[in-house]
Formats: sequence, C-alpha cells, structure tokens
Amino acid sequence: MFCSRCGKELKGTPAFCVSCGAKLVENGDISPKSRLATSLLAWYLGLLGIHRFYLGKIGTGILMLLTFGGLGIWTIIDFIIAVTGNMKDKDGKLIKKW
Ligand SMILES: [Zn+2]
Repeated sequence: MFCSRCGKELKGTPAFCVSCGAKLVENGDISPKSRLATSLLAWYLGLLGIHRFYLGKIGTGILMLLTFGGLGIWTIIDFIIAVTGNMKDKDGKLIKKW
C-alpha cells in the first residue's frame, strides 16, 4: 500500500506510515496514475490541458485547451498541485505515487 500523505510505498498494512508518521486509512483513495507523468505533462503540455486528459478529466481538459491553460495561470497552479501530490484523477483519487 501507499501512504496517503507522503506517497511512500509501505510493506504490508501498517497502521502508521514509517516515513512521515501519518495515520493510514485505506489504499482506495490513491490513484494508480503517475505523479511524475502528471507533473511532466502539466509542465510541458499544461497549456493544452494534456495532463487533465491523462487523468481522465476530459471536460476541464477541453476547457483548458480552449483558454490556453487559463493564459498559463491555471497551468502553473495545476503543476504545483500535481507536484505536491494534491491532484485528483476523475474518480477523486489523489495522485501520490511517483
Ligand atoms: Zn507517509
């Protein structure tokens, strides 16, 4: 399983993360999508909303494409959210795994 706070992979099902000490709930709210891929897509192709298409968020992806990433501002915000592990995929699962 993976820590929902720091994203560290943990052996077995411990009650607390050995890395950051966070109380672990369940594995179900962590997306299988790659945080690295999301971050890189947001950085290089973010103005076209490609990272949102990658996450299955087609609606906001198209909106981003049409607004040119909110003139770059929305893209920068998305990139920061992605890198810090707070981006969610279309199912509302956090993108934590690098
Ligand atoms: Zn942790």
